[in-house]
Amino acid sequence: MAIPQLRNKQVLITGAASGIGRASALAFAREGAHIIASDLRLEPLESLQQEVQALGVNCLIHAVDVSDEAAMQAFAALVHAQIGAPDVLFNNAGIAYLGKFLDSGLEQWQRVLRVNLMGVVHGCYHFIPLMLAAGGPRQIVNVSSTASYAPSPSMASYAASKFAVAGFCDVLRMELDGTLIGVTDVCPGVINTAITASGAAPSMQQSGQLQRLQDYYIKEGCLPEVVANDVVRAVQTGKTLVLTGPYSRLLYHLKRISRRLLFKLTLSSATKIGYL
Ligand code: NAD
Repeated sequence: MAIPQLRNKQVLITGAASGIGRASALAFAREGAHIIASDLRLEPLESLQQEVQALGVNCLIHAVDVSDEAAMQAFAALVHAQIGAPDVLFNNAGIAYLGKFLDSGLEQWQRVLRVNLMGVVHGCYHFIPLMLAAGGPRQIVNVSSTASYAPSPSMASYAASKFAVAGFCDVLRMELDGTLIGVTDVCPGVINTAITASGAAPSMQQSGQLQRLQDYYIKEGCLPEVVANDVVRAVQTGKTLVLTGPYSRLLYHLKRISRRLLFKLTLSSATKIGYL
């Protein structure tokens, strides 16, 4: 649901210590919103807390693993007791895993799905009841990816997790229709953050493919601030789909025109970049 005026609203962000989450905390704070910033560990959140507070708003920081259901339930209880229900719930925490399907162990599938999919599910499951009970316009923002409609090779588990998040957003939006809670699906393209360092198959590291992909992200990727500003605008206007960063919009429309062309393009660019 559109929240045009963010001053004094409470915005909760997971994965806020780095990249898109960190930039979003600062972008919402610049609009006058108070921030609840969480990530795996507290230390990297401390400098963010200082930067947010310097903008004249409050910043609660909390260490929580989004894949841990009990910890997320306890986090929701803590936020409810100290602050109340968040006005904006931004389920942003995520990891990547790079490597061809048959070169990768199945344990990494569990890890990626636990964080990228179940992390979003845990956030929604434990915070939405509080948000509904509190009433008033509120917004859920879940990060999927351009990989949720135009995945690249060497990202099987990541793409599966992001397709799942996009589907989850669609269902949630229908189930919350008629309430004052809206659902935004954010699909970033190539964003220059630390995400490519989250995990890769040994073969991908030894062959230099990972390094080539990382070089590509540095060269072609935009700053996470671009996504952060688009997320803020989406919350202010109640937008349901955010296509943001290089290639996100282009590939979205290309898929609607020709799936065959999209297949050829993504395959040939993976070969050209050198990570396939
Ligand atoms: P990032 O690595 O810079 O930040 C991700 C943050 O999530 C880190 O601070 C990390 O500690 C945290 N995190 C990881 N696992 C966690 C867990 N189990 N519990 C809590 N926090 C955890 O990466 P980013 O690029 O800013 O990624 C943010 C989101 O954007 C992710 O969901 C990612 O999949 C998505 N995304 C990124 C890109 C891109 O090109 N960077 C593109 C599309 C989608």
